[in-house]
Amino acid sequence: MEHTKCLIIGSGPAGYTAAIYTTRAGIGSVLIEGHQPGGQLTTTTTIENFPGFPDGIDGFQLMDNMRQQAINVGADVRSGLITAIDLSKRPFIATLDGGTAIEADTVIVATGASAKYLGLDDEKKYAGQGVSACATCDGFFYRKKVVAVVGGGDTACEEAAYLSNLCSKVYMIVRKDYLRASKAMQQRVAERENIEILFNTNTLGLFGNNGVEGAHLVRHKGTPDEQAFDIAIDGFFLAIGHNPNTEFLAGQLETDANGYIVTDKVTTATSVEGVFAAGDVADPRYRQAIAAAGTGCRAALDAERYIAEM
Ligand code: NDP
Repeated sequence: MEHTKCLIIGSGPAGYTAAIYTTRAGIGSVLIEGHQPGGQLTTTTTIENFPGFPDGIDGFQLMDNMRQQAINVGADVRSGLITAIDLSKRPFIATLDGGTAIEADTVIVATGASAKYLGLDDEKKYAGQGVSACATCDGFFYRKKVVAVVGGGDTACEEAAYLSNLCSKVYMIVRKDYLRASKAMQQRVAERENIEILFNTNTLGLFGNNGVEGAHLVRHKGTPDEQAFDIAIDGFFLAIGHNPNTEFLAGQLETDANGYIVTDKVTTATSVEGVFAAGDVADPRYRQAIAAAGTGCRAALDAERYIAEM
């Protein structure tokens, strides 16, 4: 069976950065890219908050640059999907979708997280044309415009507050009659005059000939008081949570209640020695490309040190 000192799983900023660092450190690592090479950033438009690009950079281009940089330093970047991994014995054994297996002394999990969507056909229809799951990434394109944020948790409140600094008006579409968010986040929303919360409201669909121009909503769905109405918006932001991509781990690493991998407070070490986690899969809080790249670097250095001590 093929053997590697470091198996990097995932190809977002965390995975590629880990590949660059491990390769330059002379550790023979293998990076398996997963089904969406480049990760979440490849589905956004211009990225203006990743330092080093004064005019911004297209998300796909940024990830392609990272991939190319990894390859240029000699990283072994491969397409494929890890479907299962056995972390109970050493070396660890990972199985790929084609059925082949690879042994690894250390593993860096950098599989990211996927934003949850409502499941409406219109979300796909208007993807990149008014539908977004990242206000920090895309909010800037809606300056002085009207947007809606779906969700009533901390993320939704945070995104609504962020957008309220840029947009003329922000609707929050909340399916219950209360916000689930912490009191502090609720307070932040309450302080913004241009945020209007639509409680007991669900989204039925989106409309617009040239990108999103509005949303079909329903209040008190399924009750005698049910009332359908439309709002005019330019942007529709999902903030109903993220799913960290950890299914293939089958519960072998400690996670928090939302499924994010728990790492040591100082390092990227997980509950299994020799396994490190980087990027959004272990980051419920920041979820930024630059933060993911930073933890990718840290995971590579942690793996390097672990291998040296082995
Ligand atoms: P949450 O799971 O906390 O909230 C999700 C929100 O989306 C809820 O209001 C939920 O409604 C709503 N929702 C879920 N599914 C649907 C649906 N199909 N249709 C309509 N609404 C839906 O996720 P968050 O991303 O907000 O937070 C995740 C974790 O990260 C939390 O622990 C949070 O505290 C933390 N976090 C902390 C931050 C901070 O401290 N600054 C910032 C961001 C996140 P309902 O309430 O009805 O279930």
